[in-house]
Amino acid sequence: MTHVLLVEDEPAIADTLIYALETDRFTVTHCLTGAAAIDYLKNQPVDFVILDVGLPDITGFEVCKKFREISQVPVLFLTARDGVIDRITGLEIGGDDYVTKPFSPREVSARVRAILRRSSILPSTATPQEIQGTCSSLRHDEKTMLFYCHEKKLDLTAHEYKLLLVLFQAQDRVFTRDQLLDKAWFDPGAVTDRTVDAHVKSLRAKMRQAREGAEDMIQTRRGIGYALVIG
Ligand code: CA
Repeated sequence: MTHVLLVEDEPAIADTLIYALETDRFTVTHCLTGAAAIDYLKNQPVDFVILDVGLPDITGFEVCKKFREISQVPVLFLTARDGVIDRITGLEIGGDDYVTKPFSPREVSARVRAILRRSSILPSTATPQEIQGTCSSLRHDEKTMLFYCHEKKLDLTAHEYKLLLVLFQAQDRVFTRDQLLDKAWFDPGAVTDRTVDAHVKSLRAKMRQAREGAEDMIQTRRGIGYALVIG
């Protein structure tokens, strides 16, 4: 059984999440505060952490930093609706993903499964040399926050990186331009969907440079948006 530690101070949210996770056969331990969660993790290894950013004692970010001193356990943040900066910060300090409130509990559970699948394919302890042999056409190194395309490092701007990360973390899923703006930009209000198109264009150019003649991994779904498809 996969053991999930849920850190959430709002009982109503915690209850629906626990129900969804247990339905998906996860074992759930629930903590109401950051301090309780840190104590728990020190004494008891868990397979996954779902971490609310807005906790009553210390922020979820502080909790995650403490976790990272002792554990590489995957962390999924729960962030407030308007917390765009929160989401970026969460990923920067070692979180694996985030969902924005209000969310569907089943979506959260599906996300947990996806992250666990991903982390078992590419253990975060593996060095680039160790996994080079897997010859994947696109690879993300979580520790250094770098992407490698055909094992060539991609030199990306912050927004290109975030955009590619969003697509990479949900491969094959089609995102609308609005969804991409919402997930990958610090201030989505200040840009237009053209901005997404422009960044996709520059990302494709950089990925093409890594290997001439390779097929575009970022596919356009006409009239809808974009998806990352790794062949
Ligand atoms: Ca809260």
